[in-house]
Amino acid sequence: MEDENEYVDVLLPLPLRMYFTYRLPLELQGKVKIGERVSVPFGRHKIYAGLVRSIHSDTNQKYEIKSVISLLDEEPILHKQQFEFWQWMASYYMCTEGEVMAGALPSGFKLNNETKIIINPYFDGDITSLSEKQIAIIDGLEQKKELSLDEISAIVGQQKIFPLVRTLRDLGVVLIKEEISERFKPRKETWVRWSPTYVEDVVKQKELFDKLEKKAFKQLELVLAYLALYPRAQDGWVRKAFIVSQIENSQAAFAALYKRGVFEIKKKVVSRLDNQDANKEQEGEGDKQVHFSKDQQKAYEQIQEAFKEKSVCLLHGVTSSGKTEIFIELIRQALEQEKQVLYLLPEIALTSQMIMRLRKYFGDEVGVYHSRYNEHEKIEIWRHVGDKYKVILGARSALFLPFKNLGLIVVDEEHETSYKQQDPAPRYHARDAAIFLASLYGAKTLLGSATPSLETYYNALHKKYALVNLFTRYGNVALPSVFVSNLKEETHRKTMRGHLSSLLVKKMEAAFEKQQQVILFQNRRGFATCMECDSCQYIPICEHCDVSLTYHKQRSALICHYCGYTIPVPSVCPHCGGHTMKMKGFGTEHLEEELQVVFPQQRIARMDLDSTRAKNSHYQLISDFQQRKIDIMVGTQMVTKGLDFDNVGVVGVLNADSLITFPDFRSYERSFQLMTQVSGRAGRKTGEGEVVIQTYKPEYEVIKYVMNHDYASMYTGQIKERIMFKYPPFYRLIKLSVKHKEEALTNEAADVLARSLRALFGDRVLGPEYPMVSRIKTYFIKELLLKFERSSQLYEMKESLQRAVDEFSEDGRYKSVRVAIDVDTQ
Ligand code: ADP
Ligand code: ZN
Repeated sequence: MEDENEYVDVLLPLPLRMYFTYRLPLELQGKVKIGERVSVPFGRHKIYAGLVRSIHSDTNQKYEIKSVISLLDEEPILHKQQFEFWQWMASYYMCTEGEVMAGALPSGFKLNNETKIIINPYFDGDITSLSEKQIAIIDGLEQKKELSLDEISAIVGQQKIFPLVRTLRDLGVVLIKEEISERFKPRKETWVRWSPTYVEDVVKQKELFDKLEKKAFKQLELVLAYLALYPRAQDGWVRKAFIVSQIENSQAAFAALYKRGVFEIKKKVVSRLDNQDANKEQEGEGDKQVHFSKDQQKAYEQIQEAFKEKSVCLLHGVTSSGKTEIFIELIRQALEQEKQVLYLLPEIALTSQMIMRLRKYFGDEVGVYHSRYNEHEKIEIWRHVGDKYKVILGARSALFLPFKNLGLIVVDEEHETSYKQQDPAPRYHARDAAIFLASLYGAKTLLGSATPSLETYYNALHKKYALVNLFTRYGNVALPSVFVSNLKEETHRKTMRGHLSSLLVKKMEAAFEKQQQVILFQNRRGFATCMECDSCQYIPICEHCDVSLTYHKQRSALICHYCGYTIPVPSVCPHCGGHTMKMKGFGTEHLEEELQVVFPQQRIARMDLDSTRAKNSHYQLISDFQQRKIDIMVGTQMVTKGLDFDNVGVVGVLNADSLITFPDFRSYERSFQLMTQVSGRAGRKTGEGEVVIQTYKPEYEVIKYVMNHDYASMYTGQIKERIMFKYPPFYRLIKLSVKHKEEALTNEAADVLARSLRALFGDRVLGPEYPMVSRIKTYFIKELLLKFERSSQLYEMKESLQRAVDEFSEDGRYKSVRVAIDVDTQ
């Protein structure tokens, strides 16, 4: 007999390499579209929101087919390009489409799968065989009808409650209810207006007023409040909350008016984003036209020319050359052609300034999308990308938005390593993914940087991307002068003041004389890197990670920067009882304190992960600095990134050596980028910028390149080493991290995996080795590195690598071992 049923293949947000087939219940047949979400049962206890990938009528499935529970959308929440993008991402970065889905969709689109416990209606009330804790649970249920597992945990005062609950269920006392609720509910507002009988009918209105004046004054007040707004209301509609809020305690009066038939009402779905952007009131008015300098004009024309032939272009422009202005003009052009634009920034820290700059030109058409936004805000952008929001400014996750007609992607500060997602999968590089995404729409990608990554520059030199240079600062402002301060000498001459060299102090004093501001860059947060016992050299380390704990003075605690593990500062050595615990290494917090001593007159602020946790704190710090309420800004990496301040006279790099000697093949490139970028904050408008780099080894070549603003020599030097030592861009790196809570098993598993990979790829496999931090959050880690030459059949290589890893994971001995694959690892 032929099967008349309709089935859907559904993608679930899980690390499984397959779609799952469900039957559509009769009432949903013919009503479901590809790209809509459905809720489906999975396993014995779970319900997921899955995405419909295909609809069909054939079921040669061997397993029993379950039914879709409900349809969650009225329209698809994404387009075919998103599915293509996800598929590419899963294949290139070696993960599953389900993992991409989990990372791509805002969690408001997922289901809240909370288990609730209720009293079994057939429970006979006999509690004689129950424990005290179980009776406490029943008491709780009698008061609240249903309890979540967390609430039960609180009642009995323990974490592990499942055994308790299970026996209650087995005894027929309670039932376990898998409750699902969708987290996102559109917000609705009530709007009101005259009922048709009252509009225009002056006689009727007069009658009403008379009646109300005598008997219901509050109602009259409401009507008057409405009339005050009437002239400006569209078709007479006014927000109910607004009029009701003007008259105290008027809800009942409103209800009475409605009952009398004076008002009619309607419900309207509203945007959650209106009126809540911290930056909105800052929107600049004024000149909305970009007036290019000659050099900008030339660069702009070259980019346009380049896009006729190539789909990717690198704009290599020195700091403060006016790249942003060029981006803005290109965005305007894309909008004129009815296309959408994605503007990617590597970090949230940067967005607040950029929002203002973009809103000045594009107003409300700019939507912002990043991880600090709450779920409602994200979903609002998701649903309106392309109609209401034509320019999206976002961090890497904005790549997943369902663009309709993308015309241009700008990847600003393309060299930034934070464009790479670390954990969890998909471990994608947003710049590279952007280039692929753009190709799906036939769109262009513009990469911008003052210090391009070696990979990108290589691609540009070899004509894969177009290259446009802009080597003058806007307004012909001079690039900053870079000075080196020799810490060895200064220490010897005893001219150091704490961690500040006399050269840096002198320059800072001069800057303050001229009312200029100062930025100081120190790569470590916290107060001291660690504490050490003076007698036995014991260093307090994390319980869960293989790292020493960082001393935070303000919080008076030792904190693990990997897992957050925190202990109070020990007064004596926990190991030998010794009485002197010394501090070693120094961080931003310590620097801040030293500055207060050296510059007691200046206002000092700190910008690092600790000082910017709250949602708007970045914005606040940046705007205070901009308004010159701060004289010295101390910070980690965060202060090095493309911020545009116009009054910075001096920039100091406190410890260049720690950047340069960091054990990583990219440390040379990165230290050049960091030092050049932070230097680029100086003298952007005045051209009087000065930079002081503190180092024990002034002879480092990379410091010379920074002094001479010489990217080309840095590139040439580095690219030779990359060939020689088999690194990108000549080789592609894939890192496998093997993790387990037991050290011995981790080691054994890594060896076994390495052996099987060597059989396939020979000496392209390096390791296993311990990474720099060999235990994180209680997991031991061993790493394998694979180096594939650029010319190799990468796709086939990855396929056989995946098979080898799958085979390894199926081996019973290593079932509990986790293997994370990181393609193009940074
Ligand atoms: P970059 O991104 O290359 O570091 P920006 O785009 O931030 O440089 O430009 C540096 C400064 O010069 C900014 O304050 C910017 O507003 C200003 N600027 C750049 N181009 C123009 C222009 N054509 N007209 C007016 N101001 C400009
Ligand atoms: Zn830790």
